[in-house]
Amino acid sequence: MFRPSRSWSPPFCPNAGCDSHGGTGPWRYKRKGFYARLRGPRRVQRYVCRSCRRNFSSQTFATTYWLKHPRLLAPLLHRLVGCSALRQIAREFGLAHSSVQRQSERLGRHCLLFLEAYRPHGAPAEPLVLDGFRSFEHSQYWPFDLNLLIGVSHYVYGFNDAELRRSGSLRPSQRARRTALEAAHGRPHPQATRRAVEELVARVVPPGASVAIASDEHAAYPRAFARLPERAIRHRTTSSRESRTPRNPLFPANLADLLLRHASANHKRETIAFSKRRQGALYRAAIWAVWRNFMKSRSENRRDDPPAVALGLVRRRLLAREILAERRFPWRQALGPWLSRCYFARIPTRPLARCRSHTLRYAA
Ligand SMILES: [Zn+2]
Repeated sequence: MFRPSRSWSPPFCPNAGCDSHGGTGPWRYKRKGFYARLRGPRRVQRYVCRSCRRNFSSQTFATTYWLKHPRLLAPLLHRLVGCSALRQIAREFGLAHSSVQRQSERLGRHCLLFLEAYRPHGAPAEPLVLDGFRSFEHSQYWPFDLNLLIGVSHYVYGFNDAELRRSGSLRPSQRARRTALEAAHGRPHPQATRRAVEELVARVVPPGASVAIASDEHAAYPRAFARLPERAIRHRTTSSRESRTPRNPLFPANLADLLLRHASANHKRETIAFSKRRQGALYRAAIWAVWRNFMKSRSENRRDDPPAVALGLVRRRLLAREILAERRFPWRQALGPWLSRCYFARIPTRPLARCRSHTLRYAA
């Protein structure tokens, strides 16, 4: 929980539209009394920005701003990577399922910004592995790939989504149902994987950089790389029929797939906790990636450091409360188009008419 010390002062104006919001140069504010809260911290210092006259408080800078159940965030993070479903968590804490869902979404947004802020922004210093983790949203008629770019250190550099058409052996009745659903809601773009992989690699590998990427023999991957001529990509493929041992060049991706399925209730086989919206799966993937990169050992048996420590991005393993120590504001970070759409919940689910898109009072 965010408990500002006596010497704490607000670092910038939280109003995105204010001249003083950048946090550079002096900005002037004044204290404006306190307000009482029912939950700790019970007495909260209020402020007013002298430039835009907006009121705010020390809580504005906490990940628990406006929350009625501020103590839920940290245990929720653990349960969401401990394979609990939302209703199971709600029963444990005596809350409505919708409260847990809203806090999971907040956690997902926070983790997206956290991952983007901490990831290496230069050329990756290690070979990468690219993989598509197959899951589905809403029903098995709407599969999608979670494309993952992972280092040999097991650090998750980034991920995104690609809608897919349901394939495999279908009964005539299933084929007819697919045709009816596609007529009603449209079909995923046939080049969705190529487009998504292009976005992911362009985001993680800066122009001018050179990188080795291992992957399976998916035909869309070389097509995506060919569209990124300003990056030197050395691509090595391994058949997905090769045995999935630690010696397999795709081991980091194979292990990530296992861990995602092991840790996330929404990706279990034959579950009722599957993602109803792709957006929810992406928020949950962000939470999983923060846990994988900053909290979980690379090897459970050795209890060694998490990947982010091995890469020198943080000094030691982080605790949930450290990850949640400070609220992150989307307008203070450069977000590319995909991250921005994902953050503001604009990733659609075809059979559902509307996104539950998210707006923030202080968002630009
Ligand atoms: Zn201001």
